[in-house]
Formats: sequence, structure tokens, C-alpha cells
Amino acid sequence: MLFSAYNAQEGLDLFSIHAPDIVVTDINMPNMDGIQMVKKIRKMRQDTKIIVTTAFNDEEYFIRAIDAKVDSFIKKPIDPYKLLEAIEKNAIDAIHKREIDEKSKLIDLILNNSVGDAVIAVDVNGNVIFMNPTAQYIIGCLVEHAHGRPISEMFTIKNDYNNETFTLKSFIRDEVVDLTNHILMLPGGQLLTIYGYTSPIRDHNNGFIGVAIIFQDLNKLKQAQERLSYQRERFISVLIHDLKTPLIAISGYARRLLLGKAKSDEEKLKVVNNIKDISEHLLNTIEDTSCLLKEKADLRTFIPEHLQFDKILTMAVINCLPAMESRGLSLTLNNYEGVHHCGIRHITLAGDQRQLINMIENLLSNATKYAKSSIWVNYDKEDVSVRLTVTDDGPGIDEGYIDKIFDPYYQVPGSIKGTGLGLYSVKKVVENHKGFICVKSHINVGSTFEVSLPCDP
Ligand code: ADP
Repeated sequence: MLFSAYNAQEGLDLFSIHAPDIVVTDINMPNMDGIQMVKKIRKMRQDTKIIVTTAFNDEEYFIRAIDAKVDSFIKKPIDPYKLLEAIEKNAIDAIHKREIDEKSKLIDLILNNSVGDAVIAVDVNGNVIFMNPTAQYIIGCLVEHAHGRPISEMFTIKNDYNNETFTLKSFIRDEVVDLTNHILMLPGGQLLTIYGYTSPIRDHNNGFIGVAIIFQDLNKLKQAQERLSYQRERFISVLIHDLKTPLIAISGYARRLLLGKAKSDEEKLKVVNNIKDISEHLLNTIEDTSCLLKEKADLRTFIPEHLQFDKILTMAVINCLPAMESRGLSLTLNNYEGVHHCGIRHITLAGDQRQLINMIENLLSNATKYAKSSIWVNYDKEDVSVRLTVTDDGPGIDEGYIDKIFDPYYQVPGSIKGTGLGLYSVKKVVENHKGFICVKSHINVGSTFEVSLPCDP
């Protein structure tokens, strides 16, 4: 798009709105000269390409223009071919720079947010130039402290088979080095079994400029797998118990009937009714469990769309109202009783509708399960995030369990029967939406679950 201005102030106003990639300006303008304008533009956007047309041949002017980082000069009278040539050259540079910026943003995002492996980069001298959050966590050192320091100060690596310790030279090699079954030794003496490799980093001219070290902490991976399989076994044993108890009762009642222990018609009817009630309860348990397992599988497919948060919240609240009513609980939504005043203002965000409704329903259904008499739901927008709190006046959660309640299949001992998957899926939905969740709970006072999700400004 092309925007034109008649003087420097108008040019600046247009620039502050559209921030164009290229500016072509005269040097001699009323009120504010071109160089002053260029300086102001530079403050707003460093990388805009600036072409100055000038009739001046004055050295002073050129020095000021160079100071202001003008990219090209066109001498007046303007030769249209020269001007086009300058625009074309600067446009190619601007496009190239934008592509590089986008690529590096993407790489940054992948390395810092999406990669579960530890990634460390060192220069040819073995000094640290990059560490992603996983590496910082495993090594126990922030990148700010590690930057520029020799990698040997962070850790040493030993081959577990032949006990050989890696020297800096064996690391800083222009070839891939396999780190399968190696031991990483931290300065405090901690030993980690790692799996990974080192890979050379090359510049645009294929010159060797450093090494990337990529690894996983196998101990942590093993611990996580063991924890998950323990939780899975616990879930299965709780489920078996939930299925077995009613079946024993059903078979007991059936035997009573067969042995003729229920004499009168009234007694027989009572036994049959008991069998019916228990079977229905059993079917509900099976249905709930299969829904939860499906919900868990659904968490893997994240389909974001543009949504209105208050609509999502209203839908979830309406779905949960019957259960709240049947327990005689009162619901206060943004300081108003009931759902009628729900839409405070439109908050929009990119999210997966089904997952978000599900997340709010899980929080509300826990509040409904535990509240004594009241539930409070509040939500508001703060900058670029929407903050939702669900509070109940239930028994609260003991501090010792707070860290575990988001684990899959975890249920606090002695709590109301469930599957232990509700809060796990809440956490997954929050993570899928790049949000945060926290809990504040006081014994015999109640619990507040607070979720923050990124939303549109
Ligand atoms: P479940 O389906 O078993 O309730 P969740 O994952 O939803 O599983 O919750 C995990 C544990 O967290 C529950 O066993 C329960 O003890 C505790 N919990 C969750 N929400 C609340 C709440 N609002 N008040 C008290 N305890 C809660």
C-alpha cells in the first residue's frame, strides 16, 4: 500500500498508524526538515528502509543523514529509474529481513516453548551462547548466568560404557556425536543418565560456528513413566472396586430371591427395585468413566477458533445449574445471583470451544460436589488475559495434596468418589491455551481455582 503526505508532520502521523516498510522523503520541507522526521521515524521503527531525495550537495547534510541511518539517497532532479531501482533494492532487503525475523521468531518459539529436550548451544571455544528452559531446569542454572561461560563449568559428560570423560575438544567437533547412555555430572556431584547427541552449527557460508547439545534426562523420563503407570494401576483398581461392589450386591439380592428369602410380594418388589437401582448406578459409573476417558483422548485434538468468552462461560454454567440446584446451592456470577447478568462485556479469544466449556464444567462440577451452600464465579479481562475464578465454601484441600490434584487419576484420600481425571483435563486445556492455573484453599473455608487465559486486547 502507498500513503502520501504533504509535509513532515503529516508523514509522521501516517507512519505512526501504518508503520510502512519503506519511506521516500524529501529533505527540504516546511516546519520540520526530512532528517528530523527520519530521526523520529527511527524511534518508532528501527528497520524501516528510508530513501531521501535531495538537491543539497552539502557535506553537513549528508553527515546528519548518515547519522540518522538513511538507507539510500537520490539526487534531484529525480531520475524515475534510479528511484524505482532504489525502492526495489530496499523492498527486497525489507522482505528478506521480515522473512528472517519470522523464521527466527518461530525457531525461538520452538526452542523455548515446544521442545521437551534440553538444548544448549556453545561457540567454537565452548562458551555457552544459548540454553532453553528445559536445559536451564536440568542444569539448575539460568541462561543469564551461563551465557559466555565455558560449558565445562556447567557440567561434564562421561561415557557410561568406557568411563571416558568428554574433553572440550571431543565436544566442539564439526560432526554429530552420539550421547546415548552417557552420564552428565553436575558441579554439585549429581549424576544424570542422558540420551542425546551434539550437532555442529553452521553459518550461511557453511562455516562451523559452534555446537548444539541436545539431550533428555532419562531418570526424569523413567520417573514420570513409573508415576503414570502407578496412577493408571490405581485408577484401574478403584474402577474394579466401583464395579465389583454393586455387582456383589446385585448377585446377593438375586440369590435372596432364588432362595425364596423374600416371602411377600412387597418384599420381592423391594428386592427387584434394589437390583434396578444398583444396576442403574453401575451403568452411570460406566458411562461417566467412558465419557472422561473420551474427554482425555479429545484433549489431544486442539481446534482453535475465535470465541466470545462470556458465551462459553454461560453455556458451561447453564449445563451445571441442574446439579447445583439439586444440591440447593446458590450461584453468584460476577456479584449477581444467577446467570442473567453474565455478559459483563465481550471478551474474545482464540480457543477450542469444546475444551473450554469442558474445563469450566469440570471446575464447576467439583465446586458443586464440595460446596456447603455457595459457589462464586468471577471473570474479568486484565490487559491481554481473561481471569476466571471458581470459588466454593467446601471443606478445602489440605496443603500437602495441592501439588498432586492435577495429576492424572489422583484423588485426595477420603474425597467424594470421582475418577481423578477432572483437574488433570482442566490443566491440559489451560496448557493447550497457553494459560495458567492456580488454587487457593483453606481447610473448612473453601477453595478457589483461578485460571488465566490469553485473550484479544
Ligand atoms: P475427581 O473426579 O476424583 O473429583 P479431580 O481431578 O476433579 O478428580 O479432583 C482431584 C482431587 O482434588 C479430588 O479427589 C478432590 O479431593 C480434590 N478437589 C478438586 N476440587 C475440589 C474442591 N473444589 N474442593 C475440595 N477438593 C477438591
